[in-house]
Amino acid sequence: MSLLITGAKLADGTSTDLYVTDSGVLGDPSDAPGAAQRIDAAGLLALPGLVDMHTHLRQPGREDAETVDTGTAAAARGGFTCVHAMANLTPVTDTAEAAEYVQSLGERDGHCQVRVVGAVTKGLGGKDLAELGRMASSAANVRVFSDDGKCVDDSLVMRRALTYVKSFNGVVAQHSQDPRLAGPGACCHESEWSGRLGLPGWPSQAESVIVARDVQLAELTDSRIHVCHVSTAESVEVIRWAKKRGIKVTAEVTPHHLLLDTPLVAGYDTTFKVNPPLRTSEHLEAVREALADGTIDMIGTDHAPHARQDKDHPFDVALPGMLGLEQALAVVLEVMVNTGRLDWPTVAERMSYAPARLGQVGEQGRELVVGEPANLVLVDPSARATVDANQSRSRSRNNPYHGRELPDPVVTTIWRGKVTYQR
Ligand SMILES: [Zn+2]
Repeated sequence: MSLLITGAKLADGTSTDLYVTDSGVLGDPSDAPGAAQRIDAAGLLALPGLVDMHTHLRQPGREDAETVDTGTAAAARGGFTCVHAMANLTPVTDTAEAAEYVQSLGERDGHCQVRVVGAVTKGLGGKDLAELGRMASSAANVRVFSDDGKCVDDSLVMRRALTYVKSFNGVVAQHSQDPRLAGPGACCHESEWSGRLGLPGWPSQAESVIVARDVQLAELTDSRIHVCHVSTAESVEVIRWAKKRGIKVTAEVTPHHLLLDTPLVAGYDTTFKVNPPLRTSEHLEAVREALADGTIDMIGTDHAPHARQDKDHPFDVALPGMLGLEQALAVVLEVMVNTGRLDWPTVAERMSYAPARLGQVGEQGRELVVGEPANLVLVDPSARATVDANQSRSRSRNNPYHGRELPDPVVTTIWRGKVTYQR
């Protein structure tokens, strides 16, 4: 298996021919054997394969919503060559055995690399630490720990988790939601909209108070905290302050929190129910600015497939979450690149290099040069299309971009030298 890609431009604008096989990016394209498959990439950009820090693959437990096969196929469609599988599965990924099982599913069915995220607490219960050390030393080599879906709200448990993961250079990824300020029923950004629609409010401070606590606990323990799905201007300010202070904090923003705003929930369409909720325009502006200036380090999709029967409920009862893998690059292109806020090298940083560093995935987030692994995506920056949820590779259909005209940039995805998606 070998591929010769001709005429692609790298993120920095230089033109290149790439000769790749499953053993990586190889040397002089003139050495390519006659059998090499050729891809004419004139007019296309070649970026390092995208890496997602925050993916819900639903297997094991909810294979009616997504499987490792369908979820990673959606990832490949979105240009990703690696995803991090969140721990809120059934059973929860809170032991070495559970972590190795998810890892084995990835190796068997994955259309991209699957890295396992371990739970912080047993059963996501928020009380007793999960087997952090055993997951770290298992074959799954877990480095990122998260109770995502739930907040680790007990400060002492959080302190202990941060202290523990330090011994193997791990990181705790927090779903920041004060469970008293924004309880299980909270489903609409607290604003004139929540009042008008009669939906329980989720104030932005329910996020930022947890972020403020966590960065101080990271400072206290000299450990690393990652803030999942930053959605508010207040959280951005706290993270900016913490970084200035030298605290080891990283942060992600989802594609939907960059593009979609609170008024979309006015029709009570549960596709737009997500946690944290869609925010108002001043918050969108704040997270866009933070992604541009590096206060927010990376995109995390929070791809959250749900079966129809879990969305077919009144708004306050339906499960929160939306798809994100397939349109992630499209949204970043629309909101950040086409508006001049991000250049391509910085897109590669926010969507490949930074998440690969955070997850300590050695073979991802590498430059496309001789000797490096062959993980890349070919991008057409000018293509556009109307999103059709029914064309999704995901098993679920809760795609918030359905019917919206967006860039359609992903042409070819290559993982470990093999084509995993071709338009
Ligand atoms: Zn979350």
